[in-house]
Amino acid sequence: MNDSNGYEAVIGLEVHIQLTTRTKAFCGCSTRFGDAPNTNTCPVCLGYPGALPVANREMISMAIALGLATGCTIHHRSVFVRKHYFYPDLPKGYQISQYEDPICTDGTVDIELDDGTRKPVRIRRIHIEEDAGKSLHDIATETLIDLNRCGVPLLEIVTEPDLRTPAEAHAFLVLLRKIVTYLEICDGNMEEGSLRCDANVSVRPAGSREMRTKTEIKNLNSFRNVERALGYEIHRHAELLRQGESPESETLLWDAVRNLTVPLRGKEESPDYRYFPEPDLPPVVLDDAWIERVRAALPELPLARRDRFIANYGLSRYDADILTAEKPLADFFEHTVAGLKRRLPEDFKTACNWVTGDFTRMLRERKRPITDPPLSPAALAELLDMLIEGTISGKMAKQILEEAADTGVHPREIVGRSGAAQLTDEGFLSTLIDSVLRENEPSVRKYLGGRENVFGFFVGQVMKATQGRANPELVNRILREKLDERKKCHE
Ligand code: ADP
Ligand code: ZN
Ligand code: MG
Repeated sequence: MNDSNGYEAVIGLEVHIQLTTRTKAFCGCSTRFGDAPNTNTCPVCLGYPGALPVANREMISMAIALGLATGCTIHHRSVFVRKHYFYPDLPKGYQISQYEDPICTDGTVDIELDDGTRKPVRIRRIHIEEDAGKSLHDIATETLIDLNRCGVPLLEIVTEPDLRTPAEAHAFLVLLRKIVTYLEICDGNMEEGSLRCDANVSVRPAGSREMRTKTEIKNLNSFRNVERALGYEIHRHAELLRQGESPESETLLWDAVRNLTVPLRGKEESPDYRYFPEPDLPPVVLDDAWIERVRAALPELPLARRDRFIANYGLSRYDADILTAEKPLADFFEHTVAGLKRRLPEDFKTACNWVTGDFTRMLRERKRPITDPPLSPAALAELLDMLIEGTISGKMAKQILEEAADTGVHPREIVGRSGAAQLTDEGFLSTLIDSVLRENEPSVRKYLGGRENVFGFFVGQVMKATQGRANPELVNRILREKLDERKKCHE
């Protein structure tokens, strides 16, 4: 933060993401969230003596995928270690992790700031580890342990201290969340703890390159708390520096109720994990074929896709950002436009408005996820084609969207059945307009005499005669032509 008083913050993040593998890191237990406590457990994840772990290959492929997506070096050999500490939700007394030889190192991702400028943030390492169980303290007198989460695979992503403001830290997390959800290796759900962040921060005089003493804020569970906690710490550090003091190297917790950090432990109390290589697991050895298989299956990444949406569909950055915020929404949009008859930027924009507007609202009202919509992209394209052709009005399109969502009937069928199609027959409308003008001679004279606002009255008469089904643009055009002609004769 370029504090007005000449200080600058230095921030590095450690992010844990929970992987979406079906089974745990080193055993066959299910990873499903929300099952009855302690039902997804076995001798391996409960740490029974003699039980042997086996590394989940899907987990390793996911680590490779994230490493490739963040420009890391993927190591052909990495090593599992035991990280020892005591906690009631850690039955083995150690966590299997990686330490000196992680699977991925030395990457970069480009974050994008609000003004559109990009900034590279270096990734120091990505390593694999297993999660601990959960202690439930919410019963006043006792603590209950749920070991369903024990052994669920995590990736830890550690950045270099390249971030300078809470906003940059926020931008990094938003991007990382997008990347992991695009890769479909993590659901990105912070409330359920699928993505957790520890933030490290120090403050130094602006322009200085030295590294000052940092504090670490543990277990931040929302992007907003990350920003707030960092803002608070930066201010606290700067105040201390201003008074000629310096902060202590500490691990802190963020108190989101009181909006302040509270010390958890000082440097002296920092645990000695007694890391040593896991004797029950061989090193992870990757051949090029494995890495290349993962590379070939990588999806287009969020920023690249956003830029392609701008270039291919002529959308604004704002629209493209919204559409690509979540991969399923971007997929739905692309499937919709693929079904359109015409391929013009204005139609892509119409599709964008409908997908992000009425369609999204319809899903929300019906509590349906975009991955399981009551209306297919092809059906939406059919509806939009009729709107674009002028067969139906915008208002009718909205009604048909609801009906198609409720009944599963195709939009064209709904229109055909109800005779709801807009009148776009020029000959018919021309005859109708002639008779409207004939029946309203006094108004026509007023119009020719300069009372231009009578025009709306004629449009209204035509709409009334057709029960609102006449295509308004067409009515306007024909009416304008006919009245202009009369005007010429009149002059
Ligand atoms: P530790 O030895 O305390 O675990 P590391 O060097 O392993 O510290 O770094 C942990 C995280 O803290 C990394 O994300 C790193 O970028 C960040 N970090 C390291 N030093 C600083 C500092 N002086 N100020 C801010 N962040 C830092
Ligand atoms: Zn198990
Ligand atoms: Mg460290």
